[in-house]
Amino acid sequence: MTAAIIDGRAIAAELREDLKARVAALRERGVAPHLAVAVLGDDPAARSYVRAIERAAVAVDAVCTVHRLPGTAGADDLGTLLDTLGSDDGVHGIIVQTPLPAGLDIALIGARIRVEKDVDGLNPTSAGRLALGLPSYPPATAAAVMEAVHRAEIGLRGARAVVIGRSAVVGKPVALLLLREDATVTLCHSRTVDLPAVAREADLLVVAIGRARMVSADYVRPGAVVIDVGINDVEGKTVGDVDYDAVAEIAGAITPVPGGIGPLTNVMLLRNTVQAAQTTIG
Ligand code: NDP
Repeated sequence: MTAAIIDGRAIAAELREDLKARVAALRERGVAPHLAVAVLGDDPAARSYVRAIERAAVAVDAVCTVHRLPGTAGADDLGTLLDTLGSDDGVHGIIVQTPLPAGLDIALIGARIRVEKDVDGLNPTSAGRLALGLPSYPPATAAAVMEAVHRAEIGLRGARAVVIGRSAVVGKPVALLLLREDATVTLCHSRTVDLPAVAREADLLVVAIGRARMVSADYVRPGAVVIDVGINDVEGKTVGDVDYDAVAEIAGAITPVPGGIGPLTNVMLLRNTVQAAQTTIG
């Protein structure tokens, strides 16, 4: 068996078309969806993420403004910027770009983002609302995973889902979103005993670890849907957390890296921003 490929680039292109139409309709009503990106310091990875977000915004004709503070600025300065953006009626979505300089905690900083504009689910209140099943914007990466899962057309109700990785931005919110759709969810981490055996129980396996090609065919039940969130650099080549070639032989469907979850993430950020803009006019 060879897995069906869940093509993140193709899905992203389709979603962008839909978003473009929604943005055009909002602009006709006098609202230009606007994502504000707060950046502290000059981390090279953050710089390239921000450029990608700007490109994603241009592609759907949304507004993206980048608000830079020097690396020497502290949590108070960033908090003040987030307050200003929060009270600006022209701004619909706010994110803080990570990684942040050492010593700054994204959970504490995120608490200063107005929840209605928290389009990357960084505010602990958004995480709490997600856990309670109340409306909130999930982290964009978690939303991207769900989009890929939906495209795989796996029936989630009662399905066994195993998520490997319990970070606040990926593993935990994905587990909660799957639970919301009635999957039976197991959330694994570095202390899980006999991880391959647990993973093999999965109809749906979501992997967000950050270890190149760690998940071998031994972790995968034949026919399972495998979503690889990992982004790892191996000698200049980007690879996922899943050993793609071996797993694609037995999985039912799989996301490639690159070209899977990565291209979907910024589209989700924009989708949340467009939704937030829509909400302001009802
Ligand atoms: P974190 O480092 O925050 O979390 C990694 C998780 O993996 C932890 O829960 C950790 O467990 C678990 N883990 C680590 N080693 C093992 C192991 N040997 N066995 C089982 N579990 C293990 O990473 P993120 O969630 O932020 O990111 C995960 C991956 O996804 C990275 O490659 C990252 O680059 C990528 N990523 C991609 C995005 C995108 O496509 N847009 C966005 C965000 C991330 P424990 O909690 O016990 O330490």
